[in-house]
Amino acid sequence: MENLQKPPEEDCIICMETLTSASGYSESSECKKIKDSAVGKLKKCGHIFHQLCMLEMYNSGNKDGSLQCPACKTIYGEKTGTQPRGKMDIFLISQPLPGHQDCGTIHIVYTISPGIQGPEHPNPGKQYTARGFPRHCYLPDNPKGRLVLELLKLAWARRLIFTIGVSSTTGESDTVVWNEIHHKTEMNSNISGHGYPDPNYLDNVMAELAAQGVTEDCLNM
Ligand SMILES: [Zn+2]
Ligand SMILES: [Zn+2]
Repeated sequence: MENLQKPPEEDCIICMETLTSASGYSESSECKKIKDSAVGKLKKCGHIFHQLCMLEMYNSGNKDGSLQCPACKTIYGEKTGTQPRGKMDIFLISQPLPGHQDCGTIHIVYTISPGIQGPEHPNPGKQYTARGFPRHCYLPDNPKGRLVLELLKLAWARRLIFTIGVSSTTGESDTVVWNEIHHKTEMNSNISGHGYPDPNYLDNVMAELAAQGVTEDCLNM
């Protein structure tokens, strides 16, 4: 965050006070290092907030090492998740997917075992279950599918593919669940709606990955 000496005559959208006055958090914040009226500009998107407000926003979130601009959702830093320990294996199969007859198939296998929740999980020290593993997922083995695979590998390394929570299908709590990055778990059928053909799938999953800060730019760094 870049320090701004002359704040514009606008409201801070975090505390709704004007940027030329003190942060709405100046009384409640425990931080003594940042001045009440200090204003900062985010580097990539240029949005401006009280520095104290940004700090309060970060501290009230899940403190995952990243920060999202509240105005435009640009992600700063590298967001990491709480995915438990496991394994991601990749295989290639020659059989095509429905709707992708011109290429073979990438087969991803996720393996996660039950374990004990860590401090980053909803109930530290309590057991979590891992149902339906290994989970099998499929991508077309074409340039776009291979790009999605690289993004998924990065998302896996950042612990973003799964999390521990409540299963939306069974209602079971303290279990390993998908974390808002949809996967295709059916290869030759589409009974669950998580199968092929689905011409928009690769674009949709790239948007979901981008929402977690995983984009093509990260691969080139
Ligand atoms: Zn503010
Ligand atoms: Zn912004």
